[in-house]
Amino acid sequence: MADKAHLNIVFIGHVDAGKSTLSGQILYLGGEVDERTLEKYKIEAAAQNRESWALSWAMDIDEGEREKGKTAECGRASFETANRTISIIDAPGHKNFVPRMIAGASQADVAILIVSARKGEYETGFEKGGQTREHAILVRTTGVSRIVIAVNKMDDPTVQWDEGRYTKIVTQITKFLRQLGFPKNAISSLPLSGVTGSNVRDRDDSCAWYKGPSLFEALDAVEIPKRESTGPMYMPILDKYKETGLVLLGKLQQGRLEKDATYTVTPGGFSVAVTEVGVEKYDRDFATAGDNVHIKIRTTDDHFDVHPGSVIHDSSLTIGVTREFIAKVSIMEAPDPKKLISVGSEFMIHLGAAEVRATVKVLMARLGPDGKAVTVTDMNGNRRPERISFITKPGVYVIRFETDMPLAMAPFETFQPLGRFCIREGDTTLGVGVVHKLA
Ligand code: GDP
Repeated sequence: MADKAHLNIVFIGHVDAGKSTLSGQILYLGGEVDERTLEKYKIEAAAQNRESWALSWAMDIDEGEREKGKTAECGRASFETANRTISIIDAPGHKNFVPRMIAGASQADVAILIVSARKGEYETGFEKGGQTREHAILVRTTGVSRIVIAVNKMDDPTVQWDEGRYTKIVTQITKFLRQLGFPKNAISSLPLSGVTGSNVRDRDDSCAWYKGPSLFEALDAVEIPKRESTGPMYMPILDKYKETGLVLLGKLQQGRLEKDATYTVTPGGFSVAVTEVGVEKYDRDFATAGDNVHIKIRTTDDHFDVHPGSVIHDSSLTIGVTREFIAKVSIMEAPDPKKLISVGSEFMIHLGAAEVRATVKVLMARLGPDGKAVTVTDMNGNRRPERISFITKPGVYVIRFETDMPLAMAPFETFQPLGRFCIREGDTTLGVGVVHKLA
């Protein structure tokens, strides 16, 4: 039988939305965890007064893998559907793990946004500061092309599979995702319960009004994004670790990477030789576009330096490096009134897996719904661009930034993976940006 196509999924959503429970249920229904193991977890969970968390413990079978080091940053567990081998990428959702979450999500083909339908929980997750919005923003910056809204806990006594509740949640979240720039046909949704398993693998009688596919059926039918395997190779680096040599990991965006070939690492322009290639569970000494890859490298350059956010690429390719750039930024959350955004404001920018401090140099314009700079009439009756001293409300702005470190970057139009970023202030993700021009 031909190899099943491989799909990587990542679960995102507010804390307690049910990510671990659903992961456990999926592994159980997919036959990856047997009943005895599950029983064991149930007993362990009960011993710690966490009875209802039993399934979430099943996810911990991945812990051993994690300890082996290889999947240090992104643990994963796999299950099978009729046509796909599906890996669950674990993207830690805690606020302190944002860079790791971005790294995890960057490897995914599909993001499943888990939302709790339970009364009060959905509202808390979606309001300002809730992780439902934040995770959606972050996932958008990673370039994940499909998002499934999984409305979870539909079995809860406060919900009882109420269609109105489901529709309200889906409508509101879809609107938000569309604002972030997810195309309409990239968004789908379904009601389910991670605890009872309804609509996870199979549909059952609990939700007669829902006629769409179960989660397994939906994932089985998802189109796997095609990537360009011709053209110069490039791979943004998500992470690095040492294992008798330096190992870099990332998702190959374009071209083909081979063992024993020599490539360039930007920023720095360092020359490196690839001595080993690891692609998921395959035994190969090359990788092609779309693969999640670990490579061992060797370099003779004494000054060699590489960070998450650096790019390894064919030497024929030139990748821009800059500290100043102009970007179109969608501010999704109203800034804290005590910290309005103005010239001199500082943020953290996450571009791919890079995380740098950036300062606002110029607030250039605010864009109207037509994408053009908003103008005002001056004293002489002429139209001129509106002058902005502070950003006080959500909207789309053109901003010139300066970063404290050189970044590998490209205009969004040219190289999407190096051209989109999110901006964060303390614990808040304020919005997403696309690079317009390197200054
Ligand atoms: P995570 O933080 O997103 O990983 O959430 P957990 O999987 O740990 O779940 C948080 C809580 O919600 C636990 O008490 C679960 O038992 C409960 N929970 C998760 N999924 C469901 C569901 O489908 N229905 C109900 N009623 N409760 C759920």
